[in-house]
Amino acid sequence: MRQSVRACFRGRGYAYAERAEDVAERYGIPRIARLASNENPRPPSPLAVQAAMDALREANRYPDERMSALTAALRRYHGEGFRFVTGAGMDGVIETVLRAVVEPGEEVVITTPTFSFYGLAATAHGARVREIRRNPDFSVDLEGFIAASRNARLAFLCTPNNPTGNSTTPDLIRAILDETETLLFLDNAYVDFSDLDYRPLMQEYDHLIIGRTMSKVFSLAGLRVGYAFVPPWFEEYYLRAATPFALNSVSAAAAIGALSDVGHVAATRDHVRLWRERFSREIPYPVSPSDANFVLVDVAPRTADEMMRILASRGVLVRSCTSFPGLGDHYIRVSIGEDWENECFLQAIRGT
Ligand SMILES: *Cc1c(COP(=O)(O)O)cnc(C)c1O
Repeated sequence: MRQSVRACFRGRGYAYAERAEDVAERYGIPRIARLASNENPRPPSPLAVQAAMDALREANRYPDERMSALTAALRRYHGEGFRFVTGAGMDGVIETVLRAVVEPGEEVVITTPTFSFYGLAATAHGARVREIRRNPDFSVDLEGFIAASRNARLAFLCTPNNPTGNSTTPDLIRAILDETETLLFLDNAYVDFSDLDYRPLMQEYDHLIIGRTMSKVFSLAGLRVGYAFVPPWFEEYYLRAATPFALNSVSAAAAIGALSDVGHVAATRDHVRLWRERFSREIPYPVSPSDANFVLVDVAPRTADEMMRILASRGVLVRSCTSFPGLGDHYIRVSIGEDWENECFLQAIRGT
């Protein structure tokens, strides 16, 4: 029967971080510092929790298929001039965009190293994935990216990039958009931790989609809420391609509550900036400049897997980046966690 599974699912699939419970049990350490998944260690805003509890009482009804209340909250947050679509996480949005625009066999462009889900989702969709290697400093090979995009149906670019942490400036994105007519999906999952703003580009181009998530700065990773800024012409097609009711009403209500708590966002940003500074100063290995809530650390001459095991044995869970194609075997990615988690990590890596 196994042969009946498609070839693209016989490989390894999405590489999840190791579970904290498993590490805790293996090393007999009660409290694990969880720095492997770029989550916000701060619990969700009380406004999000209350809104979700209220929505739960009406969970007998299907959600509003257009997510009107959530898109209205997004317009209040970002500005009335924008159009939004929503999904079950930005991952869900990415899958729906692929479904809406890419025929099987057509090309999708990604950079490497980057977030692995673009390639996995595109392959599962039957697209051909064209990988453009980033430069040694992890900046985008603009000429290569533009040339490849011209032959493709859809291109993905992540800024700030996961797992490298560096940004591609809005001016460079503008240069790409000026040179191609191919739809560009710009992944802004970490943009809240940077000083950059890509939203004005939405007013200038109708072949740009900007993906966002409620999983990071808004602390709702477990509720799976993603959304995107879309050009007006695309909204209707997105709704046709989407799985009906993919985003549930409880999560949508929580997102609306979270968007109204500006204090939560500000506190998270301040905390991340402070620790990003300290990490780059105090980690005794080369740290790549980061605009995100994590840093990439070059642990050579050790391998990433070796370092991950050493840190795990000291109660700290980080991400070995060997699962990111094109990055080699000596980088770890470390999320900024709570104070005690970060201190614990610094202490653990100092002794390696
Ligand atoms: C976390 C992340 C996302 C968002 O994921 P969700 O599905 O919304 O949780 C998207 N892109 C990148 C690069 C990420 O790191």
